[in-house]
Amino acid sequence: MLQPYKRDVIPGPRAFFLSAPSGCFQPIAARIRCVQSYNPVNVETSGEHGLNSSKCMAHFSAALLLFAFLVSAQGQIDDATKKLSDDIFKQLIEINTTDSVGNVTTASEAMAQRFRDASFAESDVQILGPNDRKKNLVVRLHGSGKHKPLLLIGHLDVVEAHREDWTTDPFSFVEKDGFYYGRGTQDMKSGDAIMVTTLIRFKKEGFTPDRDIIFALTADEEGGKSNGVDWLLKNHRELIDAEMVSNHDGGGILSDHGKPVMMTVDATEKLYADFQLSVTNPGGHSSLPRPDNAIYSLTNALSRLERYQFPFELNEVTRVYYERMARVDTPERAADMRAILKTPPDSAAVARLSHDPIDNSTIHTTCVATRLNAGHANNALPQRAEANVNCRILPGHSAEEVRQELIKVFADPAIAVRYVDSFGNVFDTAASSRKSFPPPPLRRDVFGPLEKITEEMWPGTPVIPDMATGASDGVYTMAAGMPTYQISGIAIDRDDIRAHGRDERLGVESYYKGVDFYYRFLKAVTSE
Ligand SMILES: [Zn+2]
Repeated sequence: MLQPYKRDVIPGPRAFFLSAPSGCFQPIAARIRCVQSYNPVNVETSGEHGLNSSKCMAHFSAALLLFAFLVSAQGQIDDATKKLSDDIFKQLIEINTTDSVGNVTTASEAMAQRFRDASFAESDVQILGPNDRKKNLVVRLHGSGKHKPLLLIGHLDVVEAHREDWTTDPFSFVEKDGFYYGRGTQDMKSGDAIMVTTLIRFKKEGFTPDRDIIFALTADEEGGKSNGVDWLLKNHRELIDAEMVSNHDGGGILSDHGKPVMMTVDATEKLYADFQLSVTNPGGHSSLPRPDNAIYSLTNALSRLERYQFPFELNEVTRVYYERMARVDTPERAADMRAILKTPPDSAAVARLSHDPIDNSTIHTTCVATRLNAGHANNALPQRAEANVNCRILPGHSAEEVRQELIKVFADPAIAVRYVDSFGNVFDTAASSRKSFPPPPLRRDVFGPLEKITEEMWPGTPVIPDMATGASDGVYTMAAGMPTYQISGIAIDRDDIRAHGRDERLGVESYYKGVDFYYRFLKAVTSE
């Protein structure tokens, strides 16, 4: 999953794009009351990345200082790191890992070899999975043991891509006009390559993190029957057990024609559920219509659904999201955002924001008709009418709760509402009682470094926690009790989101900056 971005706004002076005051992320109540204050992080490059700005101050002219600042703000990696990260990226793109004809194990093996070559111990590089094509890789970089491990996850599988639909071969790594093209350049072999590169760099320099860093490259996030994260949790929990999880499959810099707009962190997700609505009827000759008709019953129910809205609800993440968006959005929208944050929320503001599909989906569970199928002949009364209703459920609610709500909304016992699972099985019984996990706390030990490094690399760009309206492998790690955050330093223009689409691509500079970001971020999170 890669969260297609979001709002088409963000005018306003860049000076408003601020990090939260420190401590803001800890207790929820405090966070909600947290006031805006300008507390810019010093832009200072670390020793790893070139000149130290404060030293420059004494020795260089103002012009040179400015140059050093710009270079540091752009992010820098050396040629050897560029080559390493390119080689890994290319290797991954050129291994077809689609569910249909690809092989995830081949990609796992290739990355395992790189770790062994970088002198990771054999016992710290494991390949395991339920079948020959869907093996996962789990690598461990040992730390000082001061804290419980951090788990990094990334999926190796990619969505299908056909040569005839693309301008280039989707399984060739092509550099063209400042972009890397290929299936997985956005979702998410770039992230996989970045994480591999980072751990190899750590190993080479002998960096000892303050905790073990476990890294899992996995199968079947995009589909298929062998989801690697789920399988590892069920079969080898001890191997990947961690205090928290960083998933590279989301978040990142949203940019507009290359200009950074915001750093998003997906900290929670909605739950996906399909329901089959069906009505049956004895039918008969269409020359003799009866008062009861399967198609009318069904369409009446769908009309009720069209007019129905699930209750307004915010959670820890969407609350902070609106607090921060209110600082950067248009004045009208910002006023509405502040109004919905009040207790009780302003219902007129809720209604106005709900006209926007993204806001609507952020503050409500949504259910929408997506397919319709009815009747068996032009000259017969329909014996059966069916629809699929797709729901995206807010954290804290289950598919069964939503099914019960739909039954109330339709208020027609003739309509059966059945849960459909991700393999298309239809259930006569109650739906799953599984709830989307409640949002994790926005931990200071994650968001502190994230804000600092974002400020260093994209000065003035706000960090905005976000709820993904789709789902990722985070559903498994969150359900296992491991707080999961989707964090990346890749920048994608809001009008260039090509994940799952044709001619998928990623800017070369965006990739390198993502490499640089992740190294800095991971080091900061795992250092004292
Ligand atoms: Zn993905």
